[in-house]
Amino acid sequence: MIIRKSPKEIVKMRAAGQVVAETLTKVRKMARPGVSLKELDAMAEDNIRSHGATPTFKGYRGFPATLCTSVNEEVVHGIPSGRRLKSGDVISVDCGATLEGYIGDSAITIPVGEVPEDILHLLDVTEKSLYQAIDACVVGNRLFDISYAVQSYVEPHGYGLVREYCGHGVGTKLHEQPQVPNLGRPHTGPRLKPGWCLAIEPMVNLGTHQVETLEDEWTVVTRDRKPSAHFEHSIAITEDGPIILTDRSAFEA
Ligand code: MG
Ligand code: MG
Repeated sequence: MIIRKSPKEIVKMRAAGQVVAETLTKVRKMARPGVSLKELDAMAEDNIRSHGATPTFKGYRGFPATLCTSVNEEVVHGIPSGRRLKSGDVISVDCGATLEGYIGDSAITIPVGEVPEDILHLLDVTEKSLYQAIDACVVGNRLFDISYAVQSYVEPHGYGLVREYCGHGVGTKLHEQPQVPNLGRPHTGPRLKPGWCLAIEPMVNLGTHQVETLEDEWTVVTRDRKPSAHFEHSIAITEDGPIILTDRSAFEA
């Protein structure tokens, strides 16, 4: 069942989303060579709790931290460790916050120091594919129009689009119906309805689309160990178009 949120609930979803947006903006500023993943995680947890919110991921199915930090060939679900960032790394940071029972979920991939042009291009294409997908979140479209928007934008670049993980409904639970794949046939799937809240999250690899999970049973890496990028927003579908609940523009100015 796909749960529709009332306008009042969407206001609460946006409040949670803005805690995530502010936190990710602060992580981006802090993600410099020499900073450890644990330091980023501690700052993020403090920031979330300073708003009376809680880190959604901490304890979720046993995940031990506030952030998922996935460096270079790590795709998603990396556990923050004492590893220190160095120039040339790219780090995907995924953050969730629960405020008054409602959840925001968003991710960015941050270049650290001097990053090669081909990897910056991968990040750029991945982020733009997310905005293509958000543009497809209009009432009357169908679910897999969102998926197709990602796929049709990414694939001409020759990148590997991750198939095993996808976006999802979001609300009072982190993962609600429906699943939002990053590949799909246009004009298929259920029609989008006002009140749907979705987390859309393309994961795009420089090389093969194939991924595997490390022995820690969390960290997903590319099979060829080439870098990967991940961007995510939580959005709400309304009669007036999509609202980006985790929009960072209030903090990035
Ligand atoms: Mg996420
Ligand atoms: Mg998500």
